[in-house]
Amino acid sequence: MDIGFIGLGEMGSAMAVNALKAGHMVRVWNRSRDKTRALADQGASVVDTPEQAFSGDAAFSMLADDHALRSVLVDGGLLKQAPKGLVHVNMATISAALAIELAELHKQHGVAYVAAPVLGRPDVAAAGKLNILAAGADADIDRVQPVFDVLGQKTWRVGQEPQHANVLKLAANFMLASAIESFGEAAALVSGHGMPAQTLLDVITHSLFPGPVYAGYGKMIADARYEPAMFKARLGLKDVRLAIAAGDAVNVPLPLASVVRDNLVDALAHGDGEKDFAVLGRVAARRAGQQS
Ligand code: NAP
Repeated sequence: MDIGFIGLGEMGSAMAVNALKAGHMVRVWNRSRDKTRALADQGASVVDTPEQAFSGDAAFSMLADDHALRSVLVDGGLLKQAPKGLVHVNMATISAALAIELAELHKQHGVAYVAAPVLGRPDVAAAGKLNILAAGADADIDRVQPVFDVLGQKTWRVGQEPQHANVLKLAANFMLASAIESFGEAAALVSGHGMPAQTLLDVITHSLFPGPVYAGYGKMIADARYEPAMFKARLGLKDVRLAIAAGDAVNVPLPLASVVRDNLVDALAHGDGEKDFAVLGRVAARRAGQQS
């Protein structure tokens, strides 16, 4: 396929490389041009404007947040100029409210819209093993399925309403944040009693909770090593806030999310926003008077 790719951060770069390796023609655009160099080395065409990336068979975007997507897509006039019939696949984690607004705006401009947020960190993206939560018209998803097949291990088709994919992603990230928080608190507990957090990690990942969450984020907490960040705390806070807002919109209280939100605010207040999401472990350790 002939595709455009907008947003070459930690996730977007890994995904665009996989699309190239699978033989797709990829035009890439990123606000900071230096990040396009590695992609150019792999055969991507680097373009100067988002409009040039928004053409061909489909355009994929993996921007940071609502603000970034709105500024490029809506305020920058990208959607207005998009060729009719193009499919735009937004893979970033954005609010349910913006997803609803974008679905309507795409319709007005004759552009097909698929929401396809993903589960998996940059290493998972690099391995082509993402879980893709896709929502939109089946025919539109069919058109981009060949690209999804190289980006992910599984595409979960979760309905026709784009925002449903975003709500599912927010629900999943709320659970992820809660798991990191609980490991951080539990690690502080065992440390407070003179045991290494590594012992907790070994026991828990080989008994009650095997799987990537405790094995990955738990290991960072046990090692008190929060860099390099695979998923920045600042972006994790964004997602927890979006989950709370999505709950507010339909009168669903998420009391646990509020606790985790405050702990992430604590991390940012201590200058740790660019560190990994696992830095919630440092917040728990600091609260317990421990070095971390
Ligand atoms: P990232 O490394 O911080 O990259 C963010 C991207 O957004 C960069 O390309 C950045 O451009 C661009 N951007 C930010 N503000 C912009 C603006 N105002 N105008 C234009 N471009 C702007 O983030 P990431 O980790 O790749 O995450 C991308 C998305 O995937 C987020 O929605 C995140 O929640 C989601 N996600 C992340 C993970 C993860 O583990 N990292 C996992 C699943 C989903 P510059 O290079 O110019 O700054």
